[in-house]
Amino acid sequence: MHVNLILMGPPGAGKGTQSALLGDRLKEACISTGNILREEVRRKSPLGTEAKRHMDKGELVPDDVMIGVIEDRLRQPDCDPGFILDGFPRTVPQAEALDRALRTLGRRLDVVVSLAVPNEELIKRLSGRRTCRECGALYHIIFDPPTNAGICNKCNGDLYQRDDDQEDIIVSRLEVYTRETAPLLQYYRARNLLAEIDGTGGREDILARIVERLENRL
Ligand code: AMP
Repeated sequence: MHVNLILMGPPGAGKGTQSALLGDRLKEACISTGNILREEVRRKSPLGTEAKRHMDKGELVPDDVMIGVIEDRLRQPDCDPGFILDGFPRTVPQAEALDRALRTLGRRLDVVVSLAVPNEELIKRLSGRRTCRECGALYHIIFDPPTNAGICNKCNGDLYQRDDDQEDIIVSRLEVYTRETAPLLQYYRARNLLAEIDGTGGREDILARIVERLENRL
């Protein structure tokens, strides 16, 4: 099965985790705009410097910047079989630009999976989240700790807490989601692309729910 898929949901809904699991299962490129930006920040590139100003406050990076990033990324050959977008689009103008970019490439979206998780749960997940500095793998200090504290199971990289996973910034990111990104649910529902999935429970259970929906739709 090959699909062109968007994973949507508020911060902490499990987009990164499910995108990695689905990417392995479907053998497809996982495109996380957050990971792309964090890599640019690490390299101190002009894009990274611009993005960091917004990311540190929990705000969105401007649409024109993000649209350029995704247009370049979708042209890479690893996206040919299919792609999983995690964290893009986050605004209606980004969704419209994505439609245009895909049309230019002669491709189209198959499905938009939206993971639903209550706000209290999102705050618990995000405030305990740890991210690998090297490979981006995700852990949680209580729900999914690494075997050795502070060290990635996959690559032995150093685990850290993202600046924007501090509690005051988490609250702003959830507000930004409700204001800017949640309207996309209606955008995709109207195009008959939306699959809403319960994002609570274990990661394998959530993956099974997603795969079942994909099989029913495609
Ligand atoms: P994420 O890893 O998806 O939670 O993204 C982390 C941060 O990167 C967000 O809080 C935004 O500041 C920025 N970002 C990632 N993707 C986008 C996007 N599509 N549009 C605007 N900003 C983004």
